[in-house]
Amino acid sequence: MGNKCQVLMVEDDMGIANFMSTILLSNNYGVLRAKNGETALMMVSSYCPDVILLDLGLPDIDGLDVVRQVRTWSRIPIIVVSARSNEKDKVAALDLGADDYITKPFGSEELLARIRTALRHAAGSDSAVEMPLTGVFHTGGLTVDYDKRHVYVDGVDVHLTQNEYKIVSLLSRYAGRVLTYDHIIRSVWGPNSSGDNQILRVNMANIRRKIEKNPGDPAYIFTEIGVGYRMAEGE
Ligand code: CA
Repeated sequence: MGNKCQVLMVEDDMGIANFMSTILLSNNYGVLRAKNGETALMMVSSYCPDVILLDLGLPDIDGLDVVRQVRTWSRIPIIVVSARSNEKDKVAALDLGADDYITKPFGSEELLARIRTALRHAAGSDSAVEMPLTGVFHTGGLTVDYDKRHVYVDGVDVHLTQNEYKIVSLLSRYAGRVLTYDHIIRSVWGPNSSGDNQILRVNMANIRRKIEKNPGDPAYIFTEIGVGYRMAEGE
């Protein structure tokens, strides 16, 4: 096994499993395979993989139960692999503590990018996550200056409101990863907020008007329909 990153692939569809396995092996990842949830749980505890790719539709237990059980004792990154029709399940998996999701069908570059992002976030310790952000975040022409709490596009201050800034800085902290509407709402408006998506949508429309050249075809903050938002990867 050496010190390669080990990916545990939980997938009962052999076609998809073989496809992912080929990509991972040719990119120097080690691959562990489980065809059902019980085997997956056993392999997580026995092999302690670095990241889990988890299909939600498994033949024995529900993939959501796998997320729930793993999260009772481990913070190992979990990327849910799911069909486009299962938006509710994706949201449920993220809210149970999965780190990200990827929608079938996907390409090799997308799969590898999701894994790199999950591993990078896992490498930052838990305490680092709670520390105030300092420095700057860049992606394309967008800059978030955490010290000044200002956002610039092509060097020009775009004058976000406080809540707009909170949303942008939160998404940039998790750049490359999807954050659910609920996660964003609780982070920005507090844990007891009503959980109404409408206020978030209004804020996002204003943010996009200020930072995107073409708000209808965003380059910085992407909509994951029915799930949440994702900031473009940082540089
Ligand atoms: Ca399946």
